[in-house]
Amino acid sequence: MARERIYLFDTTLRDGAQTNGVDFTLADKLAIAGMLDDLGIDYVEGGYPGANPTDTELFGKERKFGTTFTAFGMTRRPGRSASNDPGLAALLDAKASAICFVAKSWDYHVKVALETTNEENLASIRESVRAAKAKGREVLLDCEHFFDGYKANPKYALACAKAAYEEGARWVVLCDTNGGTLPDEVEKIVGEVVKAIPGDHIGIHAHNDTEQAVANSLAAVRAGARQIQGTLNGLGERCGNANLVSIIPTLKLKPEFAERFDIGVNEAALKKLAHVSHALDERLNRAPNRHAPYVGESAFATKAGIHASAILKDPATYEHVAPETVGNRRKVLVSEQAGKSNVLAELERVGIKADKDDPRVGRLLQIVKEREAIGYAYESADASFELLARRTLGKVPNYFDVTQFDVNVEQRNNAKGERVTVTMAVVKVKVGDDNLISAAEGNGPVNALDLALRKDLGKYQKYIAGLKLTDYRVRILNGGTEAVTRVLIESEDEQGERWTTVGVSPNIIDASFQALMDSIVFKLLKSRAPA
Ligand SMILES: [Zn+2]
Repeated sequence: MARERIYLFDTTLRDGAQTNGVDFTLADKLAIAGMLDDLGIDYVEGGYPGANPTDTELFGKERKFGTTFTAFGMTRRPGRSASNDPGLAALLDAKASAICFVAKSWDYHVKVALETTNEENLASIRESVRAAKAKGREVLLDCEHFFDGYKANPKYALACAKAAYEEGARWVVLCDTNGGTLPDEVEKIVGEVVKAIPGDHIGIHAHNDTEQAVANSLAAVRAGARQIQGTLNGLGERCGNANLVSIIPTLKLKPEFAERFDIGVNEAALKKLAHVSHALDERLNRAPNRHAPYVGESAFATKAGIHASAILKDPATYEHVAPETVGNRRKVLVSEQAGKSNVLAELERVGIKADKDDPRVGRLLQIVKEREAIGYAYESADASFELLARRTLGKVPNYFDVTQFDVNVEQRNNAKGERVTVTMAVVKVKVGDDNLISAAEGNGPVNALDLALRKDLGKYQKYIAGLKLTDYRVRILNGGTEAVTRVLIESEDEQGERWTTVGVSPNIIDASFQALMDSIVFKLLKSRAPA
């Protein structure tokens, strides 16, 4: 039997951005899109051009991704022509290879929310799809409230889906917008739809309000749908969207799906899944869910006892899949060997060749374990990991020494009698035989320290001239008796290359200083500055 293709559509940057407390910057969106692209996701929906400045900027420029970069927006408004709708025009102008329209498919919503007729809604779907096709875009239509709409008026819901398909939409996506539909209902309704529209043009977009978004997505596939929409770590408003981080390994590793279907994620990319999931959480400044299926820290952790000894004899006895396949690790066994292969994989990821029998690899593992135990996070701080690895395995030149720094925060009245807070940092640096002193004022202690530190590095100044900080994230960790602060700093150089460094200390200035130092040293190393 020929294997069929299932297409994965990620909407982390659009529907996932609806999550409470999530606010992606342009830099976040580009970095996450890059990770999804590396993973082998077929479609990445970047956002809603015209709806906010970030998304407008994101789609204002051609982005170089292998994935089909997709813009989201509404079909033309009722009562307007396709050529006279500013929202549709912005969408058609977006630099994206595909356009995903959203349209109502529940007659009740057409009447109450859109305040228009069923016919006008169908015309809007047809004309919008046609306009996007004319612009050379691949077109998708998200049928909002499809399942509730189908239950209320199957003929009309289906008419909306067919209108898009007949106009040449590549995909008609059935959305469980309220997230209340159960797997057996999804399977039955999708089974009806594929009688009218071929399954390889049908997608599923499930929300997790009964915690069955993953099950609903798989049920739709069983009934014939061939595109799954979801988000990383199940991000999304209310209870979230279907979690691609659970769906991907299920499709890859469970025979029911693995034997019948291919997806764009290969075995090597699957091994990066845990890393991708954790890196997203680090970026969102939140702790990864330890109990997340497949990728959580506890997903393959077994308490010692009879289980542990059985696992020692044969891991398959207590594991539904092998943890390494998704880049996770077995917890009970963190034997020297298992830990080592983990570190070796990390080394390979940052491009350092190392021999597994090299005793320094064992030492690096020990250091990483100790540092992670006190709060360092290397999943997203690649640059700090690389420096640590290079320092342990070989040599990183000692370019300069910060012999002393002083940060002063002062609140006082200024000349106009206004209350102001002024911060100033003084940094003493030794570069070779030169002793340099720099001072800078900043809008906060970390900013002042950063400015002073990068003001004068003597002969190295030219290498860091193009360096800038693009993001600064702080988390307070409650480890043991006292809280410690973890600082993650993202930097960018003149070529647009980005890297992240980490610092940990009970003192936020000290943690920031460590991350700043790592960032500068990493830049010097990357620029091959002479020692
Ligand atoms: Zn949605």
